[in-house]
Amino acid sequence: MQIDQIMQQSASAFEAYKQVKPAQRAAFLEAIAAEIEKQREILVQTAGEETNLPAARLNGEITRTTTQLQLFANLIKEGSWVDAVIDTAKPDSTPAKPDIRRMLLPVGPVVVFGASNFPFAFSTAGGDTASVLAAGATVVIKGHPAHPRTSLLAFTAMQQAISKTNMPEFTVQHVADAGITLGKELVLHPLTTGVGFTGSLQGGKALMGYASQRETPIPVFAEMSSINPVVFFPDALKSQAPQLAQTFAASITLGMGQFCTNPGLLIALESEALENFLHLLGAAIASSVPQKMLHTGIQQAYVKGRAHMLSQEAVTLVGETEKPVGEEAWPALVRSTGTAFLANQVLKEELFGPYSLVVTCKDKAELIAVLKSLKGQLTTTVIGTETDTAQWQDVIALQSTLAGRIILNQPPTGVEVCSAMVHGGPFPATSDQRFTSVGTSAIKRWVRPVCFQNFPDSLLPDALKKDNPQGIWRMVDNQFSR
Ligand code: NAP
Repeated sequence: MQIDQIMQQSASAFEAYKQVKPAQRAAFLEAIAAEIEKQREILVQTAGEETNLPAARLNGEITRTTTQLQLFANLIKEGSWVDAVIDTAKPDSTPAKPDIRRMLLPVGPVVVFGASNFPFAFSTAGGDTASVLAAGATVVIKGHPAHPRTSLLAFTAMQQAISKTNMPEFTVQHVADAGITLGKELVLHPLTTGVGFTGSLQGGKALMGYASQRETPIPVFAEMSSINPVVFFPDALKSQAPQLAQTFAASITLGMGQFCTNPGLLIALESEALENFLHLLGAAIASSVPQKMLHTGIQQAYVKGRAHMLSQEAVTLVGETEKPVGEEAWPALVRSTGTAFLANQVLKEELFGPYSLVVTCKDKAELIAVLKSLKGQLTTTVIGTETDTAQWQDVIALQSTLAGRIILNQPPTGVEVCSAMVHGGPFPATSDQRFTSVGTSAIKRWVRPVCFQNFPDSLLPDALKKDNPQGIWRMVDNQFSR
């Protein structure tokens, strides 16, 4: 089918879907979750065949997907997320002040690119799609070519939910392509109003490029590249080395490192305690089990990138698993110095996979210079005792400028889906650091503020009517009330 026809259908469906009341929209999201739950077994089996991910991980991801849908359903049932603000008229003031009422309204058809590393939670019925549908926008999903059958099954479950809840037929559409042609056409199509993407820096930048070339530019919310720096402070290294080595070996190798929050850069001051920690961490990495990566392209990129990193000046191996005979990727921990890191851009790049680089700094000034040389990140982590956090406040403050999420004494892998989560960060972590792609605030990517001036109740959306039929929290004449 032609992309033009798909986008025309999406635009017509949007005209109807944006009128659907929040309670019905919520029921639709809940129906998608129920249909996915019904298909759990076949979804897990198919995704396992297509991605090499184990059943336990895939089951967990399905639960995350249905939980996300429920979270957005609850958000729109409650309703206050529309950020309603009412400034009532003051006819007696000079000059007379008109009645002005503002809320967030959906933008229009959105294109979502499925991610390779999350066949469920960041793909077809994943967080991007759930947030678009919750906002009242329609969606065209470009399934990821690494798991086409899984994507189609999830889409079929969504179609069941459309028919069971009487939503407009083309509220959700799906295209598949093993090349860039359809994705490019979708972004360039004049009826597309926004794009959601998780993947490579190269891919995200290409989509941003298409969007800016259009006669009417549109936002691309791309989550791309992050090495998630972790700073290990001296007292923690002295007192907690064995636990830290276990925790971080598990985090670096989790899911073969195929997480955007993988801790790819570990930073510390040179010391005996650091050497002891690295000895333990290297040994823990060496004893991990090599596994196949998501697809051949990712596997080849990892193998090539790993060799490229190890060929850099002043980069040495700390620990690795034995090179497998089969197609598995093998985890590696490497090290370098602050001086070498500052002089070499290659070392600052993301290597997607079970790999981490340790940078040893000769003093505090070098550690600060290393942090200042970094680009934007999704996360940054502080590993420190109370003594450390009291002593290193300036470094921790610097870390908080780098990323959307700053973590204390926990590894960065594991992104909780909740209202306060920020999964975003300055470029190149994402294309727009004002937004998150995980958690309920992700809905804000697909809406725009609109104010109604001098409108009677009969012509206003429910959220702005005088009697507040949904009973939501609103700002009325500068006071919150419901
Ligand atoms: P990708 O190459 O960026 O592809 C993601 C999606 O975007 C695919 O559907 C792809 O379509 C599409 N795409 C890419 N470039 C495009 C272009 N120029 N025009 C139109 N569409 C385009 O990511 P991937 O296949 O998932 O993995 C490749 C690498 O991305 C990994 O090795 C890793 O470095 C990185 N990655 C990072 C994250 C993260 O969270 N930071 C997550 C996943 C992957 P086609 O495949 O059909 O061309």
